[in-house]
Amino acid sequence: MSGHGQMVQVEEYERFVGAETVQRVKEKARALRGLRVAHVNSTYYGGGVAEMLAPLTLLMNSLGIKTEWRVIQGSPDFFSITKKMHNALQGGDINLSELKREIYECVVYDNSIRNDLDHDRIVVHDPQPLPLINHYEKKGPWVWRCHVDLTSPNSEMWSYLSSFIEKYDAVIVTLEEYAQQLQTPQVFFMPAIDPFSIKNRELTESERQSRLDYYGIPTDLPLVTQVSRFDSWKDPEGVIRAFKLAREEVDATLVLLGDVATDDPEGEKVYQSLLDYREERIIILARQDTALVNALQSRSAVVVQKSIREGFGLTVTEAMWKATPVVGGNVGGIKYQIEDGVNGYLVSSVEEAAQRIVQLLKDEELRQAMGQKARESVRERFLMIRLLEQYLDLLGSFETTYRIP
Ligand code: UDP
Repeated sequence: MSGHGQMVQVEEYERFVGAETVQRVKEKARALRGLRVAHVNSTYYGGGVAEMLAPLTLLMNSLGIKTEWRVIQGSPDFFSITKKMHNALQGGDINLSELKREIYECVVYDNSIRNDLDHDRIVVHDPQPLPLINHYEKKGPWVWRCHVDLTSPNSEMWSYLSSFIEKYDAVIVTLEEYAQQLQTPQVFFMPAIDPFSIKNRELTESERQSRLDYYGIPTDLPLVTQVSRFDSWKDPEGVIRAFKLAREEVDATLVLLGDVATDDPEGEKVYQSLLDYREERIIILARQDTALVNALQSRSAVVVQKSIREGFGLTVTEAMWKATPVVGGNVGGIKYQIEDGVNGYLVSSVEEAAQRIVQLLKDEELRQAMGQKARESVRERFLMIRLLEQYLDLLGSFETTYRIP
């Protein structure tokens, strides 16, 4: 393990994936050494995108690829519009007025003035910075990485955004089933976690306990937890209803932990709407505390992620990595992580969620067996080195036709 202030090196993944994989990744990186790459998104923290960009950009730099991370700025009305766009991409309605388009496009234009982007490769994440591509002379390929659940995007929304998307050289979506009608080639990358971060590495029992004590979370009964931005797609109310049903059969404490991302202005409203449900055994916390996320995911008997739409669901991966069984909504990326009845449960209703929570709370052996399989599947499929390799393959796959002689 690296000390404080030292970058994680790719070799540290050897203990999880073996020397051969690490060697292969290093060779692929060697071929790209000196390449200048920029990732662009709209928040430094909160949500899965920032969670991945932090370790990914560091690892790429550690391998000699000059990788920057730029974050666009925007006013609250800009982020309110882009959140509506996010919701519409996940199938919600939107009133896409001329004024909304103007605010969206103007704020992105302003950001383009402030940001020199002349890198060899540019990766733009999600809808917020998407129109940036209109304002640069391309010096290399531009890639749009869309992290949202594209099961059934609102068609008006998609056709408006397509005019920007089609200017990109490639599009990355999370699952093949999210592929859209586009001229631009599409590839599929599932997200991944950083096993060395404070959120995901093994904490000592006393570190865990001290985080829980700090927030007054009781540990006399088993914990059932959902960690999520306060977002209605994550169905926090459904989690509370399922927990109340489950509690008719087995006693436990529910914790809903959420943070509010700077690019998600709806969080506060959703959080406020839940507060009336608070009681001794239903704890609802809005905090930004990654060690607490870790403590809850590892100490809980059951983690729930009862989403209605979910691009991928890194919180599911994180809990599975800690060998905690997850009861997850049978949607989006969750169904590619949980093999129902093997390493967790997939559910489609409040009642089903309640039933699986009860089953797991009553059966410690089942929890342990599922938890071990869950951790193993994350080790095999969802660690950052796999995502890094996919990026190396993609970034290395373009012909260098844009290079200035
Ligand atoms: N997260 C966090 N604190 C919270 C809630 C969420 O650190 O209170 C993190 C969570 O651990 C995960 C990310 O935010 O790393 C959420 O990613 P996910 O893919 O589950 O959902 P998204 O927010 O991107 O829709």
